[in-house]
Amino acid sequence: MTVSRDGVLQWLRNCAAVIAENRLYLIELDAAIGDADHGANMDRGFQAVLKKLPEIADKDIGSIFKAVGMALVSTVGGAGGSLYGSFFLQAGALTAGKMELDLSSWTAALEAAINGVILRGKAEPGDKTMVDALLPALEALKQSDNLDEGFGAALRASAEAARVGMLATIPLIARKGRASYLGERSAGHQDPGATSSYLLLKAAADTWELNGVMA
Ligand code: ADP
Ligand code: MG
Repeated sequence: MTVSRDGVLQWLRNCAAVIAENRLYLIELDAAIGDADHGANMDRGFQAVLKKLPEIADKDIGSIFKAVGMALVSTVGGAGGSLYGSFFLQAGALTAGKMELDLSSWTAALEAAINGVILRGKAEPGDKTMVDALLPALEALKQSDNLDEGFGAALRASAEAARVGMLATIPLIARKGRASYLGERSAGHQDPGATSSYLLLKAAADTWELNGVMA
């Protein structure tokens, strides 16, 4: 069972839709512990991705992810832009030349993507960032891969792990990014970047289960 290049394109379109739907929610989360721009930043970035897709739709998955990363870096701004830019650029490096993804290649791509975020942002687990949603999702994928549970179940488990990781940011004190300026006052609020990461991974599970990964 694999995700085709068209499945990847559909995921990216769905990401743009989900981020647009959650624009205000992400703005509200960032208003509490940041500068209230995360929803607007992400929406601007994914609308740029959406515009770019027709030009790159006949390319391999690696080239598509790289173009997504470049569109995000050049339009998003803020910490989120360069971090999600690194995420997709690194995922693109790992999937260069591929026309489909199986569970192992998606897991490897996500691992490279997360390593890109960590290399750029230097966040550790528990710093109250997107890494707190992304790393548990990766661990869940690896575990499902080891247990041979199938791609669909692995995607579902990784989205659920990201959701749990996102919620677990609520009591944390931020140690990276703007929210860290608040010190202890950052506790009691869900991290916006962990929330957008969860939304992107949930969109992957929703898109690819429907598009035949489970079939
Ligand atoms: P900015 O903080 O520049 O306004 P955004 O509001 O778009 O940028 O993004 C904020 C999110 O970025 C945070 O909620 C957090 O998840 C993430 N973030 C900030 N700094 C880092 C970092 N060093 N490493 C990983 N993620 C980070
Ligand atoms: Mg912000």
